[in-house]
Amino acid sequence: MQTYNAASNALENKVILVTGAGDGIGRIAAINYAKHGATVILLGKTTSKLEAVYDEIINAGYPQPAIVPLDLKGATKQHYRDLASTIEQQFGKLDGLLNNAAILGTMGPLEHFCVSTFENVMKVNVTAQAMITRFLFPVMRKAPSASIIFTSSGVGRQGREFWGAYAISKFATEGMMQTWACEVGKTNIRVNCINPGATRTSMREAAFPGEDRDKLKTAEDLMPTYLYLMSDDSLEVNGQSIDAQPK
Ligand code: NDP
Repeated sequence: MQTYNAASNALENKVILVTGAGDGIGRIAAINYAKHGATVILLGKTTSKLEAVYDEIINAGYPQPAIVPLDLKGATKQHYRDLASTIEQQFGKLDGLLNNAAILGTMGPLEHFCVSTFENVMKVNVTAQAMITRFLFPVMRKAPSASIIFTSSGVGRQGREFWGAYAISKFATEGMMQTWACEVGKTNIRVNCINPGATRTSMREAAFPGEDRDKLKTAEDLMPTYLYLMSDDSLEVNGQSIDAQPK
């Protein structure tokens, strides 16, 4: 999969929503999806970052994207209902959902975790993903084939000290993906996880401040996996948790 070479039109006529599209891995995924022909819906917290990605996509001559500024921490089911009905009215369907946005929270022993930080991490990393997936599901049923990708982590598969709420949220993400994958069965929708692995972004820098960032893979290096799971080349893949950087 890491050697997957997507055709230049692999995502033509697809509408794909990326959460956390303003920065890090989500930004690069959104640009790559647009580059391969998709109309991308850029959802994120900071409007100026989304606008910069929008400009980059337009300046490159890719299909015109849409911007949805939304803070997932405070989002309610009405926000997701409105989002679903706007997508339905404007595009008639949604072919892809990359649940990418997340926060690290504070690292430290569980014995001392801060309750409000814990709640914020769970809201952004788990509840928001569950809600957006639930409310966008009907409009994804209208696509000929649709792909939902959740974003996992190594600490969501094997417990590791001091990763706190973030690790717990990523275990929940793996469980959410598996449960969805069992339920979608033989519908037009498939549901998988990507574990990006150590990647040069601000989240990684916050978790490992002393690390030499130049030794890390970039988000661009991960794109074969992100493109594969969004393209029709992965129609048969469901319920998998895939490493974008296998050992
Ligand atoms: P970044 O911190 O670089 O980017 C996170 C993105 O999520 C930003 O666009 C940010 O928007 C957005 N976001 C954060 N909080 C909210 C919110 N409340 N509402 C809406 N959007 C929000 O992270 P990465 O790119 O590194 O991580 C992307 C995904 O990959 C995450 O799920 C992360 O857990 C996972 N991951 C990353 C690894 C790595 O090494 N980088 C390793 C394993 C997993 P804004 O900038 O506006 O705040």
